[in-house]
Amino acid sequence: THFGFSTVKLEEKQTLVDDVFHKVAGRYDLMNDLMSVGLHRLWKDDLVTMLNPPRQRPFRHLDVAGGTGDVAFRIVKAGGPQTHVTVLDINGSMLEVGRQRGEERGLSGQLDFVEANAEELPFENSSFDGYSIAFGIRNVPRIDKALAEAYRVLRRGGRFLCLEFSTVDMPGLDKIYDLYSFNVIPPVGRMVTGDAEPYRYLVESIRKFPKPAAFSAMIREAGFSQVSHRSLTGNIVAIHSGWKL
Ligand code: SAM
Repeated sequence: THFGFSTVKLEEKQTLVDDVFHKVAGRYDLMNDLMSVGLHRLWKDDLVTMLNPPRQRPFRHLDVAGGTGDVAFRIVKAGGPQTHVTVLDINGSMLEVGRQRGEERGLSGQLDFVEANAEELPFENSSFDGYSIAFGIRNVPRIDKALAEAYRVLRRGGRFLCLEFSTVDMPGLDKIYDLYSFNVIPPVGRMVTGDAEPYRYLVESIRKFPKPAAFSAMIREAGFSQVSHRSLTGNIVAIHSGWKL
């Protein structure tokens, strides 16, 4: 059967998203490199540079929708031995890949993996110094709930960072990006995973995600201060930042 993701109800959306990531977990990292021609690595590096975890004191970080651990590994590396990262994801298959990769890198002692929903975080108020979510928030059905939870679990002075696809509006690049999105991503997805549908969903969810001004307003609405965003690579992605003050 052929799902039109755009007509899907909020409650069903999560189930469809979960199916996608259970299916691709084993090939997720390879797909990321292929689809972004390696750029996702630079974007994640930028996120961690902005976070700038301190090397001289303990730092407790929560990476939501952390999947296979890419962002968490970078944060541990940047912060050093006093940094601890909790990788949270709704999908056990993605976390399992992350746990194995963490072990291979010898980082298990500084990581833990929690299977839970971004909309209902299983942590007490003010538990973390930092919160990040990379290419995750557009998959969450109730973004406002996820943002409210981010605010709740951060301590005062804590930082929220979100890396997400944005809206390409640069003349010329927008045409190339459209061609790439509709004519390259789904077929390549089918070649590697046997199914183009998840990748059609990917493209569609990127297009439906609120533009920076609207998303910034949502972050402010959740309580965050000094909300700002940076566009990367011709606005293909953006990093939104906010502080709990
Ligand atoms: N952050 C990783 C990265 O950048 O490579 C993974 C991003 S992947 C595109 C999106 C992840 O969001 C998937 O691992 C998926 O399971 C997770 N996810 C989707 N809905 C979620 C939810 N409601 N709560 C937590 N994680 C969720």
